[in-house]
Amino acid sequence: MASEQSDCAASSEANDLSSLLEDGKNAKHLKCERCGSTILRKGDAVHVKKEIFLPHMKKKSENQAPDDGETLTDFWLVKDMFTFENVGFSNTVENKKFLICADCEVGPIGCQDLADAINLYVALSRVKHE
Ligand SMILES: [Zn+2]
Repeated sequence: MASEQSDCAASSEANDLSSLLEDGKNAKHLKCERCGSTILRKGDAVHVKKEIFLPHMKKKSENQAPDDGETLTDFWLVKDMFTFENVGFSNTVENKKFLICADCEVGPIGCQDLADAINLYVALSRVKHE
């Protein structure tokens, strides 16, 4: 009988996270994985655990089904969009506005929940930490 392996990566993720955090905030600058553009400066975002569904990353020109994505649980929370060095917005789907890189437009790297529009979320797994 084959068994499902669903929780084997949990401990290494926790180790990764501690090197990115300083007093609950981002210890490093957040940059675009693709073009290296700075998205947020160090210390400007707070780490939160929250389940948010995001479509898979894509290039601007590619089409995809809106339900083709993943639920992520680690995010940087920013309370004011003017805190960002650099960020763009793409389409709105089901009350979520997606964040993209302002320079190369890769994304979504996170989202704004329009039901609670003060909160902007950037997925840890979708940006570079430098
Ligand atoms: Zn970029």
